Amino acid sequence: MDEFILIKEISLYVSLICAILLLIVRLYKRVLAAENEKRSLEGLVTSLLNKYSNRDSILSHYVFDTRRGIYQHKVNGQLYCHKCLLEKTHESPLETQTAGWSCPQCGSFYRNPDK
Ligand SMILES: [Zn+2]
Repeated sequence: MDEFILIKEISLYVSLICAILLLIVRLYKRVLAAENEKRSLEGLVTSLLNKYSNRDSILSHYVFDTRRGIYQHKVNGQLYCHKCLLEKTHESPLETQTAGWSCPQCGSFYRNPDK
């Protein structure tokens, strides 16, 4: 009879240990997923910081013309698409049209307020 009780207690402890091990495995999987998400977010933050610090550096070469809604290069006076500069950090010179300027990269059109 004592052996039966002992076996029953051992069986109970083995069940508890298995349940605890299962919880540890689940927690470990969550930790790994959180670490992957953290690395992904750190990469995103780094790329955004690079993008915006690079953008600020590029924008320092331009003056924004609020009347026309476009950027003008401080040195050569060339007009640039503000959408491409702000959203893509891409310097896209505008092409002169009859009624304004168009961007060959994104297709934005800036109407000339004097025409
Ligand atoms: Zn553009």
